[in-house]
Amino acid sequence: MYQKILIRYGELTLKGENKKDFIQQLKKNILMYIPKEEVKAEYDRAFVNYSEKNLENLKYVFGISSYSPVYEVSSDLAAIENVVTNIIKEKEFGSFAIDARRHNKNFHMTSAELNMYFGGVVLKNTENKTVNLKTPDLRIYIEIRDKNTYIFTDYIYALGGMPVHSSGKTLHLISGGIDSPVAAHLLQKRGLKVVFLNFITPPHTDKATTDKIDQIIDVITKYQGEATLFQVNYTKLMNYIGLVSNQKYKITLMRRSFYRIANKIAQKYNIKAISNGENLAQVASQTLESIYTISEVCTIPVFRPLLSFDKNETIKIAEKINTMPISIQKACETCELFAPRNPVTKPSREEAHRLEEELNLLDSLEDEAIENMEIKHYLINN
Ligand code: ATP
Ligand code: MG
Repeated sequence: MYQKILIRYGELTLKGENKKDFIQQLKKNILMYIPKEEVKAEYDRAFVNYSEKNLENLKYVFGISSYSPVYEVSSDLAAIENVVTNIIKEKEFGSFAIDARRHNKNFHMTSAELNMYFGGVVLKNTENKTVNLKTPDLRIYIEIRDKNTYIFTDYIYALGGMPVHSSGKTLHLISGGIDSPVAAHLLQKRGLKVVFLNFITPPHTDKATTDKIDQIIDVITKYQGEATLFQVNYTKLMNYIGLVSNQKYKITLMRRSFYRIANKIAQKYNIKAISNGENLAQVASQTLESIYTISEVCTIPVFRPLLSFDKNETIKIAEKINTMPISIQKACETCELFAPRNPVTKPSREEAHRLEEELNLLDSLEDEAIENMEIKHYLINN
């Protein structure tokens, strides 16, 4: 039976202060899933107590490059040998290799000597096994540390990236589509904690729409422990913008309004970036001219992690993280209902300004929408 899970950190090139912050944040994040007394974070690795549940939960922690269930014994030759002979009894294999590392230079055998010795132990206790250093069926890793030695056979590859929240927060525009949940996941990967913003337009959108958003956020919350959603009722604003004289600009004006609202909320909550699931040239509102005209209203950076993705690349990730089955559920979306038959694909800033002057209640309606938005909290249930 394993005693521990050995956790290896991602981004090992980090140094000094950055590395300290990285480890501290990673430890904090691990504690969202695993009780404090079961976690020990060191300078170059961490350990948690072994359990199936802990093994499962580590799948959701960004900043870990890989982990291994390990046997922990005192750094004593007989104790190590005992574990190695047990491992070879349990495992089926034809060829094997020993990968021993002596980190404790006071240990009386070198790494090479340890490899020879334990190779001999395996051959002595088995029949018809061969040594294969390149592609063995079974590789037994032996790490001799100061007090303890860690013995393991498996590397489990983890999410990599940076610990969530080590890069701050982003206000992420989330819809029930395929793209924005995947974008949220990729932002988490670079250490951003995602705060969600969603626009609904009841009665055009209904419970099926908000249920979808809840389900999507539940999935993404698993990777960051908890999440907040600002849900803005956009019906009044949608109807108001619908009155504009140039109907081709409806979507452009609505998007500018989305981002003005996002910008205000981000400032109010001290969030330093806005993000979305946009993809260059995918639809009318995502041409360069559209992005140029729309993002003008933001005074903070707008991140678009999917900008250069092909749809099938996005779908692959949506399937991997399990948002795909939710995203394809049928529900009315805010934008679909509002889109004019032939929206402008190259909107200009000048025309947008002119039309916004017509809509002189826009600012106050936006403030009112922020005032009345619903704030929801999500927690992982593990
Ligand atoms: P998605 O699959 O993420 O909806 P999409 O390819 O369908 O993306 P659009 O519907 O044009 O593209 O939306 C572009 C981006 O605008 C979305 O990725 C999302 O970030 C944001 N967005 C769209 N609708 C909403 C909404 N109702 N509330 C909040 N953000 C939205
Ligand atoms: Mg969409």
